[in-house]
Amino acid sequence: MAGYVDLSASLSTRTPKIDGPDTRAVVWLDIDNTLYPKSSKIHLLMQQKIHAYFLSLGLSEEKASVLHKKYYSEYGLAIRGLVKHHEIDALDYDRVCDASLPLEEILSYNPELRKLLQDIDPSKARILGLTNAYKTHGLRVLNIIGVSDLIEALVYCDYGRPDNDFGCKPEAGFFNEATAFAFPSHPPDTPLPTQYFVDDSLLNITASLDLGFKSVHFKEKGEWDTDHGRVNNLPVKGKEGLVVTTVDDLEALREVWSEIFFDGSERK
Ligand SMILES: [Mg+2]
Repeated sequence: MAGYVDLSASLSTRTPKIDGPDTRAVVWLDIDNTLYPKSSKIHLLMQQKIHAYFLSLGLSEEKASVLHKKYYSEYGLAIRGLVKHHEIDALDYDRVCDASLPLEEILSYNPELRKLLQDIDPSKARILGLTNAYKTHGLRVLNIIGVSDLIEALVYCDYGRPDNDFGCKPEAGFFNEATAFAFPSHPPDTPLPTQYFVDDSLLNITASLDLGFKSVHFKEKGEWDTDHGRVNNLPVKGKEGLVVTTVDDLEALREVWSEIFFDGSERK
């Protein structure tokens, strides 16, 4: 099961008055390596922390590297393999890995990103986060880069579940739970509002496209694909005719998703 944090109480954007069910579209934002550049190298620091965690379990360097890759490929996240096969406490792992990253020293307030999100018309779309990290890390990043008050809610990987039964992207079940969180009173058998999604993981994009999301793959110029390792192990296949739209700058979303942005004359 995914976790859900409602952040709507601190929203600074005006929520339009809506009579009847809320049929506005949803924009799902991945956080890590999407809302901040991969060139910040935070993912490398994360990998070092995870590798050190494997070593702390008494594994050799070689075994740690093999298992890290294997768990990431098989389960989408190294932590899921660790709780499954090594009986570790996922929250302890989060404290030692993600929570100990010096994010405040690396990331900073991002006025361009803030403006981009502010230019999404709230009468047309709501903005939510969709992360494979735990909520502590996700909220910390959103706060540092200065966009948490523009995000209605965060769907996250719930490391805190006592049964360790937490899902993550790219599993269809995780996306479906996110959809259910976003549209809790949606009448069954009626079409859902559009769900937009941007993520740096090609596997996540392909899985979401299969589920009908309007997804965009974010890949910075000159950077390796986030899922290079996973893609080597698991071929990326979507439904036939599936087209992946890739942008190398989030600003391009203004064009790709122009229907949900203020058109210039509407912005007040
Ligand atoms: Mg990401």
